[in-house]
Amino acid sequence: MYGNNAGNPILGAADYKLVHHCKNGRSVYSFCMCPGGTVVAATSEAEHVVTNGMSQYSRNERNANSGIVVGITPDDYPGHPLAGIDYQRRLEAHAYVLGGKSYAAPGQLVGDFLANRTSTTFGKVLPSYLPNVNLCNLDSALPDYAIEAIREAIPAFELKIPGFAMADAILTGVETRTSSPIRIKRNDQYQSINTKGLYPAGEGAGYAGGILSAAVDGIKVAEAVALNIVGE
Ligand SMILES: Cc1cc2nc3c(=O)[nH]c(=O)nc-3n(C[C@H](O)[C@H](O)[C@H](O)COP(=O)(O)OP(=O)(O)OC[C@H]3O[C@@H](n4cnc5c(N)ncnc54)[C@H](O)[C@@H]3O)c2cc1C
Repeated sequence: MYGNNAGNPILGAADYKLVHHCKNGRSVYSFCMCPGGTVVAATSEAEHVVTNGMSQYSRNERNANSGIVVGITPDDYPGHPLAGIDYQRRLEAHAYVLGGKSYAAPGQLVGDFLANRTSTTFGKVLPSYLPNVNLCNLDSALPDYAIEAIREAIPAFELKIPGFAMADAILTGVETRTSSPIRIKRNDQYQSINTKGLYPAGEGAGYAGGILSAAVDGIKVAEAVALNIVGE
């Protein structure tokens, strides 16, 4: 089978992208699929847990991992301009509690997640996340609409990639930093609309969602800065 076999020099590592549109109107998609990679700790705050995924160049760790993302909109976090960050932080603080307040990430086997049953022991798949994965029920890890959407999407993904809903696969929570929940507005010269000479750029400013888009935005901003200097 052509799977997570980074050791094969001809085939290399298997990559994929999946999307499912759910009955409740949400879209669920796979994000940053990392063949032969690890799930890594990515929190920036005490008593919060955030996960991310990455592969080393060799892509030959024992597991493949992928973010499972549910699309949200500002309607999900109404209020002030920083409400999206509050929303992220609430999920991350709750993940810390579900993980046992030790910086372990909360996790659940896919079979148990689909059956809404607390996981108690690992099966064939061992987690890569350090310091640890604390098995639990992820039912409260995300809002109900997101849990419902993921429960619908995983069996749909299984139809596209048999094995995706493997009962022993591990869901590790939570990956909340897929894109910036805020954007610093800029004008058509790429400068902040209210602070002349400030060029918001890249992911943190809300103009990129990955390595490539951040790099392209950096080029556009660098050109705008150069044009501004030449024009002065
Ligand atoms: C574990 C992990 C895996 C990822 N995997 C992927 C992937 O597979 N594919 C993908 O497309 N994207 C991936 N990403 C996302 C990708 O890394 C980012 O989208 C991208 O790096 C954003 O680029 P940026 O230049 O906007 O910001 P950054 O790369 O974060 O650069 C910001 C820079 O500003 C510096 N800085 C911050 N504050 C200050 C300050 N006050 N003064 C001076 N300097 C400061 C920081 O030190 C940093 O060097 C991953 C991210 C992580 C954490």
